[in-house]
Parts: sequence; C-alpha cells; structure tokens
Amino acid sequence: MVEVMVRMLRRVLDSVVMSERHHRHYEDLSGPAVADAVGPNSILLLPIGAIEQHGPHLPMSVDEVIATETANAVTASVGDDFDIWQLPTLAVSKSNEHAWSPGTLWYSPETMMSILMDIGRSLSTTRAQRLVLLNGHGGNTTHLVTALRELRLQFGFKTFLTHPSLPPAYGGTSTEDELGMGIHGGLNETSVFMHLRPDLVDLSVAERRVPEHLVDNRHVRFGGSVSFGWLSNDFHSDGYIGDPTGASSERGAELFASAVETMSDQMAEISTFEFRR
Ligand SMILES: [Zn+2]
Repeated sequence: MVEVMVRMLRRVLDSVVMSERHHRHYEDLSGPAVADAVGPNSILLLPIGAIEQHGPHLPMSVDEVIATETANAVTASVGDDFDIWQLPTLAVSKSNEHAWSPGTLWYSPETMMSILMDIGRSLSTTRAQRLVLLNGHGGNTTHLVTALRELRLQFGFKTFLTHPSLPPAYGGTSTEDELGMGIHGGLNETSVFMHLRPDLVDLSVAERRVPEHLVDNRHVRFGGSVSFGWLSNDFHSDGYIGDPTGASSERGAELFASAVETMSDQMAEISTFEFRR
C-alpha cells in the first residue's frame, strides 16, 4: 500500500518536473528545425558533469546534477534574451583522479578530447558561432581550457568556459574554515547539492577532510605558484577534500542562486563578445 502511494507520488512529482522543462533544449528540436532555430547569434551551451565518487555522504552524480540544473536555470532565465540552446549534458568526463575508486566512470584525457572534438564537429554543421562549456567538474578545467583553443582552431567557434563555482585549485575561493581547500565534496559543493537533491545526501557519515599541512607551503599548494599532480585519495583514503559537516540546503540555495545570476550575466557578455572592435 505504502509502495503504491510512493510510486503515485513519484509520478506526480515527475510530471511537475517535466512541466517545468524549458523550451530551449537543443535535442528537443526536430532535425529540420535546427537550420532555422540555431542561427549565427545563437549560443550553444554544453553542460559537462561527472559520475565520480564524492565521499560517502554524496552520490556519484553530484557534478552531473549541478551542471545540468545550473544550465537549466540559466537557460530558463535568459535563454530567450541571448538565444541560448542547451545541449544534452555530457554526464561522464575526465575523472581519472578518482580512478582508484571502484565504480567511478571516467574518460582518459585522450578520449575526453576526442569526444569534445566530435561534438564540435557535429555542431559545426549548424550556423551557431558561439559555444560555451559549462563545467561542473574541477578535474576537467585545464583540459577544457585546451579544448577551447582546439575547437576554435578546428571548427572556428568562439569558445568559452564557465563554472557554477570556479574550482579552488584554479583560482576560485573556498571557505576560510576549509583553509581554501574545499576542493571536492566540501562545504559549498555539498550544500549546493543538498539544495538540489536533499534526499541523496547523508551528512551523518561526513567528516572534516582538510589536508591542513599544505597551508604551510608557500608554493606547492592548491592555487599556489607550483602546480602538482594529485589523485583524490592522496590526502586521505576517503577521497574527498574539504569539510562538508556544516553543509546546509539554505547555504546551497544562496550559492546556487548567485551562480545562476553570475552566469546569466556572463551570457550577456558572451553573446556580444568580439575579438576586435
Ligand atoms: Zn564534484
């Protein structure tokens, strides 16, 4: 009886979610409609997620969900203003820093680059000239910066990379309490995910996992003047980096809203960006 009720409730909830689907999903266009709908002023928006371990307190889908939901919200709010077409999320990406964790899905750098180039080649058959990568997984960042130039060179796109929150390892900030090392499954990421999918978070198993000794380093540290190769279990066998223990959906709601606002503003500038005056 309870099971039947739960299933009914699920269906009602699903229908609510489905009715909110905005009308700027690229894949919802018919094949012939692409030629008209996607024009020279369109922005193609590719959300990139990851399916990778995020510690015991979070599911593997975190980056996929955050990238998709951010893209949904930005496109719903300014998609019509800037002619944005949201592409289907690239759910799996370059997560090989978590290769040690059984079950994590990951592409090698070579595969990831090939996929991005194949997507670029496919999209170059449309009239669009602007392609934005919306990256939900910090481990992709340097690779995607490389891809921006390759996509520009090979297919002529004006290319852009944005993050719901810039990864601390690449110049973004994280909380003082985490000593700037809320890198993976930490306070902010856990909070944003709690806002989006509260039923999938279990804070009772979360602990503080901040590699505090790195603070003593002048150069070799996250965001320092010397970069270093690391795997997510190098600092602790748990594989998450940060302190999620104080995470809350309220904090997540604020972070999410500000990310959507910032990104909407970014889209305005991207829509008119030119290399020369
Ligand atoms: Zn993540």
